[in-house]
Amino acid sequence: GGVTQESPVVALLRRILDENSGLDEGSVATYIPELAKADPSRFGICLVTADGAVYEVGDTRSEFTIQSISKPFAYALALDELGPDEVLARVGVEPTGDAFNEISLDPGTGMPSNPMINAGAITTTGLVVERHGAESAADLLGVFGGFAGRALRLDEDVYRSERETTHRNRAIAHLLRGSGALRGDPEAALDAYLRQCSVLVDAHDLGVMAATLAADGVNPITGVRVVSRRTVGDVLNVMDSCGMYDSAGDWQFTVGLPAKSGVAGGVIAVVPGRFGIAVFSPPLDRHGNSVRGVAVCRQLSSELDLHPLRSG
Ligand code: GLU
Repeated sequence: GGVTQESPVVALLRRILDENSGLDEGSVATYIPELAKADPSRFGICLVTADGAVYEVGDTRSEFTIQSISKPFAYALALDELGPDEVLARVGVEPTGDAFNEISLDPGTGMPSNPMINAGAITTTGLVVERHGAESAADLLGVFGGFAGRALRLDEDVYRSERETTHRNRAIAHLLRGSGALRGDPEAALDAYLRQCSVLVDAHDLGVMAATLAADGVNPITGVRVVSRRTVGDVLNVMDSCGMYDSAGDWQFTVGLPAKSGVAGGVIAVVPGRFGIAVFSPPLDRHGNSVRGVAVCRQLSSELDLHPLRSG
């Protein structure tokens, strides 16, 4: 028997992992006490193609909470069930350049600007709660599991820690109720939102979730359609313009791919029709994006020529 040769994709990912593992700027999120316990040295990259090939290097099987990467998937559920007209009447698609937790309601309509910042995400989840009631958190978990191709569960400690410290999100939820963006109980919308943020995933799961978006809504591992093609197009559009907090413009300029990050250090990016990328590394830059996650995606975009508006 000879030596099994490493796939060229894995070799590429391994080189990029190595080249970025010396990057030690940034710090792990501490505003939720439980998140401060994250191991800053964890680092993994997973690439999953739209036809289901999985390539992974580093810590792709250590779990962390999905946090804001839940937002596009909750938006997908709302769009798929309520249709775009009903969703667009309650949450805009306008990038703000604001931080994730900005109290960002359109002064004219009282509606949140987009579903990728907290105000819009709490409203999106509120739409699901208006429809599914007490089942909402379980239904969101089920849809996330459909995207990941396995049953997912909550990190109860993170959920509890979020719930105890989420004064700002609670204020946002009540403002949304006051402005009419939320119509049901703001506490129920907030609770379902905090639960969806506390779902445990690893970089492998996020790679499959991103690949499901790349494959127009069909999970390439399980073969199951999770949401409609139309929904995926709408989700990718808001990820493209609003996915990276207040550095969405910089991301678009340098990486150019629809993406979403979360404060536990996950980042996903989607190359439609081709593959999904997931990176996990907890230290964050001042915008709340994983430092190494951004660096890896920049490098992949440049080396593989992935930016749709730029070549070479
Ligand atoms: N649970 C977090 C919050 O709403 C999500 C933050 C994030 O990943 O942006 O504060």
